Formats: sequence, structure tokens, C-alpha cells
Amino acid sequence: MRTTTTVGRWRPAWAEVDLDALSANAAALTRLVAPSQLCAVVKADGYGHGAVPVARAAQRGGATWLGVALVEEGVELRDAGVKGPVLILSEPTPPAMAAVVDCDLTPTLYTPGGIDAAAQEVRRSGRSAPLPVHVKADTGMHRVGADPDAAVALAIEVAARPELELDGFFTHLAVADDVEDPYTDEQMARFETACARLSDAGVSPRWCHAANSAGALWHPRTRLDLVRCGISLYGLAPCEARMAAAELRDLRPALSLHARIAHVRCLDAGERLSYGLRYRLDRPSVVATVPIGYADGVPRNLSAAGAEVLIGGRRRPLAGTVTMDQILVDCGPEPADPSDRVAVGDDVVLLGAQGGEAIGAWEWAGRAGTISYEIVCGLSPRVPRHYREM
Ligand SMILES: *Cc1c(COP(=O)(O)O)cnc(C)c1O
Repeated sequence: MRTTTTVGRWRPAWAEVDLDALSANAAALTRLVAPSQLCAVVKADGYGHGAVPVARAAQRGGATWLGVALVEEGVELRDAGVKGPVLILSEPTPPAMAAVVDCDLTPTLYTPGGIDAAAQEVRRSGRSAPLPVHVKADTGMHRVGADPDAAVALAIEVAARPELELDGFFTHLAVADDVEDPYTDEQMARFETACARLSDAGVSPRWCHAANSAGALWHPRTRLDLVRCGISLYGLAPCEARMAAAELRDLRPALSLHARIAHVRCLDAGERLSYGLRYRLDRPSVVATVPIGYADGVPRNLSAAGAEVLIGGRRRPLAGTVTMDQILVDCGPEPADPSDRVAVGDDVVLLGAQGGEAIGAWEWAGRAGTISYEIVCGLSPRVPRHYREM
């Protein structure tokens, strides 16, 4: 096993990223959606897991595409030597087109100005081959993209430009995580009509795509040529309601969050703890201080909601307000058996498994009023990432 650390030499708090789990998740998704192919979405630093190691692990598992939100994120992959097609999921600004062409990234386009900027940059750069681009249709999410009719016209325009190659045509689903909602089928019907019109015009992009994780998992109709999976690649369900779905069986969370107890106090019944003194001990208790806080991505509002961590294979409640750099954990009355006592240096699992217990990102998300996506993306750069692979 190889473990590498990127930042943080001394602090006993870290995230562990299991690259074998990521590769296995990519392989499981690839099998599930075949003959469609997998675009591993590694935006936002690989959902907090680290874009470059995630990209490589996903490629080992069979991902043929990578997807990022920003040109900067695509450049980071190329600077690290990552090969293969990289889709920028929204239209780059005109000043970013030079980096797009330089780094051989695949831009998404949906405005006449974007098409002009991309074509101009190809001419300016002297690139000999046309630049592959994907045109995006807005079929109902109304975030980015052109109306389906306009997107068809733009795609035909791209196909006619000598500087550009219409490599892909795609859309994005708004409610695929709700399997009952008929809106996904409505979006797909609009998209399929647009694809048919393109084909009638004699234009056939290699990659037509629509699915995010929820689409890929639960709406086979959306799989088309390529699925763009983010959250599922990281082993997390797209929604809490379907965490036990059969399609998720072969996926496992790649990230766990760890720390070691930094300080232990025995406090009397009646003592109140942390900022605001909101947590009161109702019996003499051992309180452990763990050096990780909201500046690391532990949501501050976890404290109000009865969150727990794992120490010694048992769930223990957070005691009082999450602070910027530290949390307190109520470990209960001092056990008679000294070998059961918590001590400085003991392992604490904030996310992940210990003993027979496990705490997942969705558990935190439920308590913090958010989604697992925001939990993993919110782990700050201050938390060292340890990469494990066999
Ligand atoms: C983020 C994103 C995805 C990935 O979504 P998941 O739900 O994480 O699978 C796919 N497509 C686009 C356009 C995105 O912005």
C-alpha cells in the first residue's frame, strides 16, 4: 500500500482518499452504463477528493472523459500530465479560450460569441486540426445552454466552421434524483427531438449526453453515448432517499475524515462547554478535544443537531458548538477499566467506519440541512489528503 500526503505535516487531522475505491467505482459505473461511456466529473478539486489523483484513478477504472467546471481546473489536470479528453462543462469566457486551445480542452459552447471566440483562438494559435467542442441545449434546467432550437442552429453553425469540430451535443437534468418526477422524461423528449433535428440536418456529433449520476443510475433512457458522473464516482448517493438503491451496491465512499484526540478533560456534572455554553454535562464526564473545526469543513450547525463521531468504535456526541479549529466530544463517565478510557492520540473517525459503526456524508448533510455534495466539497484545503492505493 502506498500513502502520500500533500499538505499538513504535524496536525493530527486528515482526510483519507481511497484511490482503489475510486477506480472500482469508475469500473462499476462503466459496467452499469455500457455501451455508454463514463465522463468522470472532477470539478471542485474532485469534489474535495483531489482532482488529479481522482482523474487518474477514474481513468484506471475505465473513464474515457473527464469533466470540470472551470478552464482553470482543466489547466490543472494538463499541468499534472493528465491525458484524454477534458470537457469544460460551461462556456469559457473569451479570454480563457487561449488556455482552452493551448491545453487541448474541450469547451462547451452555447452562444454565438462563444463560437466566435473559440474559432478566432484556433486561427490565432495556428492549431492545424479543428478544435472539438460540445454544444449545450437547455431543455429545462435553465442554468446554462441555449434553447433547444437555438442549440440546434448553433450546432449546425459549429459544424460549418473549419476551425471547430462538433464533437458533442448535450443537456443537463434538473430532477433526475427524483425517480418519480416526469420532468426528466420531458427534458429527454426535448433533447431527443433536438438530436433528431441535428441528424436530419446531416450533423451527427460523436457524443450525445444528458445524464448526471442520478440519470446514469436510475434513468437508462438518459445514458446515450456518455454519462457525466460526479457524486456516484465518489461512492455517494445522489440523494438521501435512494441511498439503499440496488444500483449503488457496488459503490463505496472513497473519502473518510480522521483526527486524533489532542486533549482530554474530566469535568463535573453541570459544567457547560464551548462557545455560548450551550452544552451542559448532566453527569461527571470525560470530554475529548479534537483538532478539527469549521475552518476545515465541519459544518458549524452540526453541533445543534446531535451529531456524533466515532471513538473506540462507538458513537459519541459532539459537545457544544463546533469552533473554527476544534470540536469537543462527550465521552461520558470515566470507565472503570483503564483500557476503555479515551486518551490523547486516540483515533477519531468523523466520516467513515470504525468498529462496526459508520458515519457517512449524508448523515452530516441531514443534520446540517444540506446535501452530501456540499459536505465533501466543503472540506477545506487545510485538511491534508492522504491517498491510499494498493
Ligand atoms: C456537476 C455536474 C455533473 C455531475 O453531477 P453529479 O450529480 O455529481 O453526478 C454532470 N453534469 C454537469 C453539467 C454538471 O455540472
